[in-house]
Amino acid sequence: MAVVHEKELLCKKFLSKTQKLLIDGKWVDAKSGKTFETINPATEEVLCRVAEGSKEDVDLAVKAARRAFESGPWKTMSTAQRAKLLLNLADLIEKNADELAQLETLDNGKPIKESRYVDVPQTVETFRYYAGWATKLEGETINANSNFFTYTLREPVGVVGQIIPWNFPMLMMAWKWGPALACGNTVILKPAEQTPLTALRIGELAMEAGFPDGVINIVTGFGGDGAGEAISRHMDIDKVAFTGEDKTGKLILQASTGNLKRVSLELGGKAPNIVFADADIDAAVKGAITGIFFNQGQVCCAGSRLFLEESIHDEFMTKLKERVAKMRQGDGSDEKTHIGPQVSKEQQERVLNYIEIAKGEGATVACGGQSPADMKKGFFVQPTVLTGVNNTMRIAQEEVFGPVLAVIPFKSMDEVAEQANATTFGLSGAVWTRDIKKAHKFASLIKAGTIWVNCYNVFDPAVPFGGYKMSGYGRELGKHSIELYTNIKSVWVNMMD
Ligand code: NAP
Ligand code: MG
Repeated sequence: MAVVHEKELLCKKFLSKTQKLLIDGKWVDAKSGKTFETINPATEEVLCRVAEGSKEDVDLAVKAARRAFESGPWKTMSTAQRAKLLLNLADLIEKNADELAQLETLDNGKPIKESRYVDVPQTVETFRYYAGWATKLEGETINANSNFFTYTLREPVGVVGQIIPWNFPMLMMAWKWGPALACGNTVILKPAEQTPLTALRIGELAMEAGFPDGVINIVTGFGGDGAGEAISRHMDIDKVAFTGEDKTGKLILQASTGNLKRVSLELGGKAPNIVFADADIDAAVKGAITGIFFNQGQVCCAGSRLFLEESIHDEFMTKLKERVAKMRQGDGSDEKTHIGPQVSKEQQERVLNYIEIAKGEGATVACGGQSPADMKKGFFVQPTVLTGVNNTMRIAQEEVFGPVLAVIPFKSMDEVAEQANATTFGLSGAVWTRDIKKAHKFASLIKAGTIWVNCYNVFDPAVPFGGYKMSGYGRELGKHSIELYTNIKSVWVNMMD
């Protein structure tokens, strides 16, 4: 059952064709001729077929990207022209916002309101932000020794492979392309197999925006044993930027050793969301919901461990349950939907399995806990809240990547700080309190790349994002992303007579 009427389906034309690879400015079939299906997770219907790129196709994309990097218009154009291309692309995405939002919702399952008001505008803003950086990259002069004139050049790294997950397909693409292109690199993108469509549509827009051939290449296909592995192994790729699971991050790092290419990793999380008794409880309840149920819980920085100070536990739970009960679950294309399906059957099963594991460990289901009985199709899991969890249980230690909140009571500040950090991950965390000292103290105590105080899931392209510990390394967004995509060269000029 498609909720969007056919006449309103702006992406109909795009979906009517088999999608190809973008290599050297042209749309081409995979050398093997193979294709794979991409599915609407709300209806389980096939949306369209997509070329299955493999090593041979990655080789061709790398050749094109190398040539575009070493010679041709991209290398010699002014940084102002580069900025203009990024701005053109941002404008075209904005112009096609409704179509892209529909496509993202159909392919990923997320509510159309989120696609339209979060994913698309943040994608546009990310490109505009990095367009600004293109003209602001500078080296420095260093007066270390008067016998020499010494300066540095900030240069692009070269040919960059970018491998992204399915949870924010369009936005992850923007986080990768924005800084890489602003710095003058050429790119080969491998979208996730579950959600290749918006990257491909934006690839069309990038061609329309005027990017020279070979600067942007897209090779859709599979990760291990396919295009993803070929990118991480490739001897002529200078850098790989990866977002995804920690296990995959390790494989990519191992595969990268052939030419010791630079690697940056944005991996998973198990964020603590800590509520003190002195917090604005209603705001914290809303924050807990945004923290775990946004994007069906498929968010690397999801607030999946909710630590509640014991004295407010029961009051908080009553309010939380009331709100969760009001959440409307359904097809993401329906304007009224708050929570859509998981991205795939595999993810649905994985999440349901974690709920069973938690029950086996002694947790109690306070809300949800299964697939909704009235949904005959689609990969749905009810928004689920588990109480009676302690921090050592698997449900509190392993990344579920679904709408499952583990509630853990605490007594003291020292106790909660220790438990918050007792995880292998360190991507983000949040604290809710009216005590400004406590808030800042926590911001410094929690070992994670982002801390939210009295808010959750707030982002801006100017503010860096990335992990401590096994959540990865390197910082995306802000000026920090520039470090990922540039090399510094020191030049010494002998000034002695
Ligand atoms: P994933 O399985 O690691 O896949 C991510 C990407 O890597 C996909 O394009 C995948 O291709 C590819 N891939 C898989 N195996 C590969 C291999 N051996 N070599 C090279 N590429 C390979 O992750 P996911 O399940 O799509 O996404 C969920 C994970 O992403 C979660 O753990 C989440 O926390 C993390 N995440 C982190 C951030 C962050 O910023 N820190 C943001 C979003 C998501 P296929 O699609 O073909 O498998
Ligand atoms: Mg995967």
